[in-house]
Amino acid sequence: MQTVSTRSELRAALQQARAEGRSVGFVPTMGYLHDGHLSLIRRARRECELVVVSIFVNPTQFAAGEDLDTYPRDPEGDAASCRELGVDLLWMPTKEQMYRPDHATSIELSGLANTLCGKSRPTHFSGVATIVTKLLNSVRPHRVYMGQKDYQQLAIIRAMVLDLDMDVEVIGLPTVREPDGVAMSSRNARLSAEGRQAAVQIPQSLAAIRRQYAEAAVPDADSLRQSLRASLEAAPGLKIDYAEVVDAHTLQAPAPGSRELLAAVAVFSGDVRLIDNTRLDEPDEFLDEL
Ligand code: AMP
Repeated sequence: MQTVSTRSELRAALQQARAEGRSVGFVPTMGYLHDGHLSLIRRARRECELVVVSIFVNPTQFAAGEDLDTYPRDPEGDAASCRELGVDLLWMPTKEQMYRPDHATSIELSGLANTLCGKSRPTHFSGVATIVTKLLNSVRPHRVYMGQKDYQQLAIIRAMVLDLDMDVEVIGLPTVREPDGVAMSSRNARLSAEGRQAAVQIPQSLAAIRRQYAEAAVPDADSLRQSLRASLEAAPGLKIDYAEVVDAHTLQAPAPGSRELLAAVAVFSGDVRLIDNTRLDEPDEFLDEL
């Protein structure tokens, strides 16, 4: 595995692979890698001849007062995990290498970015879309691998790739969970013991809403949302940022009787903001056995 930091090193490392026409798979991350990230890397390894992983905690997607400074980091451990999985190229740029001091261009989003996390973090997705564009422009992969754990992010990136005619295939992969159902997240490392215990109510609530959906002849998004909120409100130690049942494509209020629904939540456990979601109309063996 080769580890690079500057864009010119990256370009040089990719040059030969490109000249040989090898397929390039790319997994962008913010590091502190866990099994969720590793599932993306493993899939890229199976499907592509050259696998590139980036680790960059992107400042432009954090607002003032968010957890940029306390975001967990472990570059050595991450490099070891990548090496073990057969990653070819690990790209770890610095903030200065990614953003010029007078950086003045960013991606403006509407529609999908205005709901769910976009309401509580109004500048977040523009920062995400901008960094993903910059990373894709540098790596120029054939395929980029992303997690459904960040469902809204994945939807926004898929739309952006279409809207801006970007030549990359976006592969979305299922959420990897801890044995008790909590979605793996680098931020879980910041939870206290009690906060981690409280977080179990998130997948439990999603599992309950899946049962309610499965039992309804015609799903009623309002009553599903009310149940979801009620079960999270009843959970000691959690504070709801949002708990919604939305159209799985528009991420807006669904049309009456619509079946393609996403249940999505963001909650605070202590000062750690956790997100999770489930497509109610799609199978999920793990949540259905919780
Ligand atoms: P992050 O490092 O949190 O920016 O995540 C990097 C990529 O890993 C994103 O595409 C995430 O959606 C994905 N990811 C994060 N957590 C999980 C998980 N638990 N299961 C699957 N993918 C995940």
